[in-house]
Amino acid sequence: MNTPQITVVIPLLNEAESLPELFAWIARVMNENHFTYEVIAIDDGSSDNSWEVIQKESESNPVIRGIKFQRNYGKSAALNEGFKAASGQVVITMDADLQDSPDEIPGLYKMITVDRFDLVSGWKKKRFDNTLTKNIPSKFFNWVTTSMSGIHLHDFNCGLKAYRLKVVKSIEVYGEMHRYIPVIAKWAGYPKIGEKVVQHQARKYGTTKFGWERFVNGFLDLMTISFVTKFGKRPMHLFGLLGAIFFFIGFAISAYLAFAKFAFLEYNMTQRPIFYMALVAMILGTQLFLAGFIGELISRNAVERNHYLIEDRIGL
Ligand code: UDP
Ligand code: MG
Repeated sequence: MNTPQITVVIPLLNEAESLPELFAWIARVMNENHFTYEVIAIDDGSSDNSWEVIQKESESNPVIRGIKFQRNYGKSAALNEGFKAASGQVVITMDADLQDSPDEIPGLYKMITVDRFDLVSGWKKKRFDNTLTKNIPSKFFNWVTTSMSGIHLHDFNCGLKAYRLKVVKSIEVYGEMHRYIPVIAKWAGYPKIGEKVVQHQARKYGTTKFGWERFVNGFLDLMTISFVTKFGKRPMHLFGLLGAIFFFIGFAISAYLAFAKFAFLEYNMTQRPIFYMALVAMILGTQLFLAGFIGELISRNAVERNHYLIEDRIGL
């Protein structure tokens, strides 16, 4: 089979009502623009009849393919599985709930193939979601992510994104890390990340699958991803430094206290708050060092410890 120009990857959980409309819309856009394409729908353990709908749609249009998870693993897992199966030159992800518009596909495709972006993220500039629970927290979230990652996007978590095939094949999305795919891609060596203002609509059928926990989890994930990408392969450089600083401060204070005790004959050292701070600092410093050593042992045994992405070779 020839590789198609576009693979559309759609993660979905209980979106049976939206699917026929979505598939028909995608097909219409693809045919109008004469794109060769495939659609990979990943049913993330739906309990409605989403899978039956996909089966039926696939019979009438064989470019529609499907993967069904045994249970709900989450959007990141669904995207990751879709990325593994994708074969198109450009891979486009979109939500199944009709909030993202397939009319954006030609524009996104052009930005990857003509403007040579590695990744283009949608930006729901005019957004049709609840202002208080989604829009305002998400502004803050995007601001934090931009300042921590150095990637200037307004809408990291937009479901509508386009990638060069190579990019999706070199990244792994797990846990709830789908919010940080641009960060993961940048760290994998694909810094050319663009943004396209996209149409957004209110949810037509069903309800949102993410509650308020998204912000707590999202923030913790950002800390994890910053740590893992910077220090995942050299944990001692972080823990060792912190440990050394703590230990040194504690040790210096203790040494001073010991000196003062004999030099100035002060006998109530243990009454001084700084005495306890010194003890705590030395203990913490030692603990941080130990965390660093354990981290090194783990990363030494990690299978991907010497996994690099090689872009080109000559004579080898
Ligand atoms: N989704 C999924 N697995 C999940 C949760 C959501 O595949 O565990 C899909 C969902 O069906 C939709 C997309 O991810 O296609 C985005 O979810 P949703 O529209 O609920 O998020 P929101 O637009 O409210 O951020
Ligand atoms: Mg949605």
